[in-house]
Amino acid sequence: MFRYHDGRLLCESVDLRQIAEVAGTPCYVYSAGSIRDRYREYDFAFRDLPHTICYAAKANSTLAVLHLLAELGSGFDIVSGGELYRVLKAGGDPSKIVFSGVGKTAAEIEFAIESGIHSFNCESEAELEIIDGLGAGRKVNVAIRVNPDVNAATHPYISTGLTAHKFGIDIRRAEHIYAHAARLPNLRAVGISCHIGSQMLDTAPMVEAARKILALVERLRAAGHQLRYMDLGGGLGIAYRPEESSPQIFRFVEPLYDELLAGGLEIFVEPGRSIVGAAGMLLTRVLYRKHTPSKEFVIVDAAMNDLIRPALYGSHHEILPLEQSEEVSVVDVVGPVCETGDFFARDRELAGARTGSLLAVAAVGAYGFAQSSNYNSRPRAAEVLVDGDHWRVVRERETFEDLTRGERV
Ligand SMILES: *Cc1c(COP(=O)(O)O)cnc(C)c1O
Repeated sequence: MFRYHDGRLLCESVDLRQIAEVAGTPCYVYSAGSIRDRYREYDFAFRDLPHTICYAAKANSTLAVLHLLAELGSGFDIVSGGELYRVLKAGGDPSKIVFSGVGKTAAEIEFAIESGIHSFNCESEAELEIIDGLGAGRKVNVAIRVNPDVNAATHPYISTGLTAHKFGIDIRRAEHIYAHAARLPNLRAVGISCHIGSQMLDTAPMVEAARKILALVERLRAAGHQLRYMDLGGGLGIAYRPEESSPQIFRFVEPLYDELLAGGLEIFVEPGRSIVGAAGMLLTRVLYRKHTPSKEFVIVDAAMNDLIRPALYGSHHEILPLEQSEEVSVVDVVGPVCETGDFFARDRELAGARTGSLLAVAAVGAYGFAQSSNYNSRPRAAEVLVDGDHWRVVRERETFEDLTRGERV
């Protein structure tokens, strides 16, 4: 959805330079077409299996993005009361919402029960007790999030499926916990879930985890538990480097298809990054070029407060000039924030990065704006949604007044 035409970088049919000039920089731009395509790929991969795709709102919880997915019939995976509020405000169907996370508060659980969400993915025995207590007179659907002890082979901060991690319940204790849940009067423990990590470029660990869970489902059924649905979690990665390729969605589903069909369970999935990651770019303008005895710096108007992924995960993002150029140099691309960790690229061969020119940081649709902050008292960026040859601002750039809202001296 992002490509050059006559030397100009386009998103769908819109020249990104026009967006940067009207909406200003830094600015996130998302392709609606790209998001729709990825959602439909998931939908298609599950074909005749009864399934619900619960987009993981934390990857990008901008209302317009949530609304776009709600219109396609998507469900949502939420991890906080704030995300539930956003999803409902964006028109999401509560009966397709699953609530994940290790630290749900009583207030969040109550809000979710009142809203009529589909189910909770429970991460501890103590949480089961709390939900049971708050569910008085109702039968609240719960799935136990099982930790299958599979190594997701990804960045340690986003790997979640080993017993050393805070997530889920050890697979060896699952039968005991389902027996416990069955005795709680206000719960219906009819689901099972797992999520082993994020940015997985190899689908093999996801397939291995799903097989372990399917085997557990058999044991649970033999013990008399009536399981109705299985949540496979999210975690499929995307290509950030040109030499990587994004794993295809059907490659995760296809090896499991017959086993899932035979299991007779309704399937849920919680993809975040693989739906929105490739659909976003961050537009930024070059403020200065600066030479030191060892480096050549390109200082841009976006910073780590806008996009923290390089600083937090050491992640790579391609950087493209909005106008193609033959002028190439090896540079560090850095922001104005007072931290050496405030960089987007180091020792990168970059074209067209003159003072005043416009650049696009690629593949930032997931965990980009969603992890942005006001560090250094920088107003958060504007966001734009492109659809075909139309574009519109879906979040205004913050103002200085926004920065101090709610504060008192
Ligand atoms: C973060 C998260 C997801 C989404 O992960 P992606 O890697 O963005 O697909 C899904 N489920 C749970 C429980 C999560 O914590």
